[in-house]
Amino acid sequence: MRSPTSTKPLMPGPSRVADPAYAAGMADGLLGELSARACPVCGSTDDSDVFAAQRLDSASLDRYAFASRKRPEHMRLRLVRCPQCDLVYASHVPAPEALARAYGEAAFDSAIEARFAARTYREALVGLLRTLPDRDGALDIGTGEGAFLRELLDAGFTAVGGVEPSAEPIAAAEPRIAELIEHDVFRADLRPPGSLSLVTCFQTIEHVPDPTVLVREAAQMLKPGGVLALVCHDRRAPINRLLGLRSPIVDIEHQQLFSPASVSRLLRAAGLVDVGHRAIRNRYPLRYWIRLLPLPRQGGELAERLLERAGLGDRALTVPVGNLLAWGRRPADPERTARAPAV
Ligand SMILES: [Zn+2]
Repeated sequence: MRSPTSTKPLMPGPSRVADPAYAAGMADGLLGELSARACPVCGSTDDSDVFAAQRLDSASLDRYAFASRKRPEHMRLRLVRCPQCDLVYASHVPAPEALARAYGEAAFDSAIEARFAARTYREALVGLLRTLPDRDGALDIGTGEGAFLRELLDAGFTAVGGVEPSAEPIAAAEPRIAELIEHDVFRADLRPPGSLSLVTCFQTIEHVPDPTVLVREAAQMLKPGGVLALVCHDRRAPINRLLGLRSPIVDIEHQQLFSPASVSRLLRAAGLVDVGHRAIRNRYPLRYWIRLLPLPRQGGELAERLLERAGLGDRALTVPVGNLLAWGRRPADPERTARAPAV
């Protein structure tokens, strides 16, 4: 259903457009009132190309709606395609404080999957790690229970840290890792400018209220030659095109969905150079893959029970599920950063 506000031009920035149609289903207050926004990558205000209509069910909006690696419940914000930069983004979004609150209270039940993912990402980054100026200073944004921090320490990094807005994953972290994690949303003052060789942000950039600000601020923390690496869903990957609106990436947690073109634009707009991307294959236990299948809830639970009964839940399987690794480097010549286009 089109909103009465969607025919009006949308103002960029934090203008608040309360809309009772969009607020329906928000009665439990988890997300509060939704506001219109411009494309968070290029600023276009043309939100006429609807990718998915809003679908919310307040009865299902619980603490697991904002947990990582949950079972999908097929709720979503209204998603539109940007005609300028290829991003799909939620045109009406909760206030950043409401989102931070939802993540702050999100449940966590994915420690084993997080360890599998961290190993996959380290293997995908091997070539990039060799090109860093040094291994002193790394920050993982949205680090969860810090599984990737352990990989960084194993790879010889010093001054390693993570930031995570949800309390439960930090409580689940082993003590030596937990003390490296700041319980917070990402902020520009987390690290001094020019202090890090590597910033990573895995499966998080879709969730943040303003990906442009995050990438710009993370880029400023890099030393010359340092690398920012993102892992995100590729909405144009074959699996996501095949599943369409039934893909698990079409989810209420996602404020935006990237493609190779839109994520590259995001990185270049922050003044990064040597921008590149490639598909990565994920390795997870079968029980996790089953949970992601687009099955009705009862069917999914039955499949999980059968899998556990067969003793196959822990069996690992590598599948190309449409994840994208994208990276950019802070120029060695600071003049190039100064000339970077403003967003
Ligand atoms: Zn755009």
